[in-house]
Amino acid sequence: MSTPTPAPTLTLNDGFTIPQLGFGVFKVDPAETERIVTDALEVGYRHIDTAAIYGNEEGVGRAIAASGIPRDELFITTKLWNDRQAPAEAHKAIDESLAKLGLDYVDLYLIHWPAPKNGIYLEAWLAMEEIKAAGKARSIGVSNFLVPQLEEIIAGSNTVPVVNQIELHPAFAQREISTFARANGIEIEAWGPLGQGKYELLELPDVTAAAEAHGKTAAQVVIRWHLQTGNIVFPKSNNRGRIAENFDVFDFELTADEMASIDALDSGKRVASHPDDVN
Ligand code: NDP
Repeated sequence: MSTPTPAPTLTLNDGFTIPQLGFGVFKVDPAETERIVTDALEVGYRHIDTAAIYGNEEGVGRAIAASGIPRDELFITTKLWNDRQAPAEAHKAIDESLAKLGLDYVDLYLIHWPAPKNGIYLEAWLAMEEIKAAGKARSIGVSNFLVPQLEEIIAGSNTVPVVNQIELHPAFAQREISTFARANGIEIEAWGPLGQGKYELLELPDVTAAAEAHGKTAAQVVIRWHLQTGNIVFPKSNNRGRIAENFDVFDFELTADEMASIDALDSGKRVASHPDDVN
């Protein structure tokens, strides 16, 4: 098998690097996870995005162990679920995730949702700082945070999150949060990068025209749009062919006009939950 082109990396605000293209495992069946993540590692992915709530950390861990890939060549993210934001719970939760993953540390640990009705995301963030200090997470960040919530944890702690992982795809480009994040040294991770297949993204003429022009697929064009926008992205697929397709995006570049035409698709169309509603 030929050596795959590695994904480019970005440098986070704490000095660690992250592969800009990874593999997400939301809704990957726990019973299938080891096989599917093994496929992704064989294709060349080195960045895996999981979460405690996905119930598949063990499968991710088994695939990592079986791969023989040196730990320092991998970038593994997992997330703290909403009902474990109290500091004592957060400390237990990271230990449980590490045990399931079979790892001594994760590269990135995220608060999964702000869960504003709980009202303790700042306390959770201070626990995340302790988890980082204990060496259990190299980097810490957040997910689904709105601008005022980012402002609150930045003002109330000594650590700026390295990323904010948010729903983001061409119809929902999240310019306000992205602009704030980048101005504060926070990278944007785009979840649902293909719109979770919930709208006709891959059939829109601006996307299919670019795909035809480059001899690539519509999904490859959308992934390329994310990368050229500066987003970190980890499309999910259960299908080996699509897993490989989604990683085969380093041999072409969208033109400025193509980028602008996909930028123009933003309609503020969220396909999943608003962060205020997940508690
Ligand atoms: P995606 O936008 O990655 O879409 C996944 C869907 O697209 C699946 O139905 C998949 O089908 C299909 N698909 C994948 N590749 C292709 C392709 N090349 N052509 C056509 N269809 C394709 O949605 P996700 O929600 O999975 O987002 C990605 C990752 O983001 C998650 O796996 C998770 O890690 C993270 N995430 C984080 C959240 C958070 O709250 N922090 C929330 C949601 C996701 P098939 O499997 O059949 O190929």
